[in-house]
Amino acid sequence: MTGYANHSFWLETAGEDLNPRPALERSAEVDVAVLGAGYSGLWTAYYLLRERPGLRVAVVEKEIAGFGASGRNGGWCSPKFPVTPGVLEQRYGAEATRSLLVAMYDTVGEVCRVCEEESIDAHFHKGGALSLARGAHQLPAIQGARATYERLGLQDRNQLLSAEETREHVKVTDVFGALYTPESASVHPGRLVRGLARAIERRGGTIYEQTEVVSFEGGDAPRLVTRAGELRAKQAIALAGEGYLSRLPQLHRAIMPVYSLIVLAEPLSDAQWSAIGWQNRESISSQKFTVDYLTRTADGRILFGSRGAPYVFGSKITNEQDRHEPTHARARRAVVEWFPSLEGVRFTHAWGGPLGMPRDWMPAVAFDPPSRIGTARGYTGQGVATTNLAGRVLANLILGKQTGLETLPLAQRRSRDWEPEPLRWLAVRYMQNAFARIDEAAEKGQTPPMDAPIAEFLGKH
Ligand SMILES: Cc1cc2nc3c(=O)[nH]c(=O)nc-3n(C[C@H](O)[C@H](O)[C@H](O)COP(=O)(O)OP(=O)(O)OC[C@H]3O[C@@H](n4cnc5c(N)ncnc54)[C@H](O)[C@@H]3O)c2cc1C
Repeated sequence: MTGYANHSFWLETAGEDLNPRPALERSAEVDVAVLGAGYSGLWTAYYLLRERPGLRVAVVEKEIAGFGASGRNGGWCSPKFPVTPGVLEQRYGAEATRSLLVAMYDTVGEVCRVCEEESIDAHFHKGGALSLARGAHQLPAIQGARATYERLGLQDRNQLLSAEETREHVKVTDVFGALYTPESASVHPGRLVRGLARAIERRGGTIYEQTEVVSFEGGDAPRLVTRAGELRAKQAIALAGEGYLSRLPQLHRAIMPVYSLIVLAEPLSDAQWSAIGWQNRESISSQKFTVDYLTRTADGRILFGSRGAPYVFGSKITNEQDRHEPTHARARRAVVEWFPSLEGVRFTHAWGGPLGMPRDWMPAVAFDPPSRIGTARGYTGQGVATTNLAGRVLANLILGKQTGLETLPLAQRRSRDWEPEPLRWLAVRYMQNAFARIDEAAEKGQTPPMDAPIAEFLGKH
């Protein structure tokens, strides 16, 4: 097995040797050239080939398929959209918000359908999601979300549970209630992304690995430029490199890489599981600003993920940033705080990776016919399901096909750019620090810091 397995438990257990596919060796011509073999690029390629068998589609990947967030995430295949329903409603109105959220529920089903059709053993499991209120201070957030779902007519898909009802699902300390979303699933991210790559090849697509795109051109002769040559596209190029797109000078400020970090415990015994409950493997989170997300893996481990690794000046991305001991140590401690019966549990893995954050937190899926440049990006850590919707939208836009998905609020838009440095560094570090202080004060039962309303406002905009 190659060194790529060290980037996550998911790549290590993807059931493949991860030997890179051949690189692009010289200039070539295709119909559609896609940058990035994560879910966004692969779903786009998949739906293009599904819709137009025989279309020449090639995906160009700097490392291997699944090297990025798609091979490292928390495994939530959730209908949760990166922007909260309340903010969506303010920005786009109730009708468009409802259509988008309904499309997200359908998307979870679509991922399951494709896994079955393409024989991708991604451990797809529809166990639901629990958004917990840990502490009374977190209750207003879930009650507010529930009120929005009621206004949108989606209350049956998002049920408010009492503390006691929540404990029937899982026994976590300090629980005051939860919002339960039955239509959420979990997956093995590595098996999903690697299986998708193989499905594309079976349908005639080509994936070039260990080939970096160093720039791109649109217009009459759209192309991805690599050191070995150009991949010229007769119909379109699609940029699907998420946080890594910030490395391209043309897109440096279009998206910001933010690290999310994960620890993984050893498999628990049946006795340990019966003390905890969590028998249906729901995806679990709380309302912390610094974000926590938990998954019970198919092989009986607890995965705990969190943000908190500091943003690095200039949107830098390096393998060293995959590990940040203070954040990993905090996540290990949190597992025992949530589940005290696990005191002494061993942790076998720790990793992390960059997700892509747009300036307004809103994904953008766009195709510009004059330049023939398409893109799908900006999922702010909620991309496992959203990328499937984005891939279908982008394929439709490129092919000029209309199914209604192209009118959803994520389509044919772009976010404004991030501020130049050093303003970006100052603002992001301030926000990271403010969110940590808000969480800490809430946990200690103290009044929120004076600047909490400003940080909360900025966090939504
Ligand atoms: C630690 C972590 C946990 C997460 N947990 C969840 C979760 O539980 N649920 C959820 O919904 N979302 C989660 N996310 C977010 C989710 O994983 C992403 O939104 C999603 O995988 C994005 O897919 P993508 O294909 O757009 O980007 P990526 O998977 O990052 O893929 C981009 C690919 O493009 C390649 N690339 C970039 N630039 C170039 C270039 N110039 N030339 C060639 N190739 C290039 C990269 O090498 C990479 O393989 C998490 C993310 C992280 C990092």
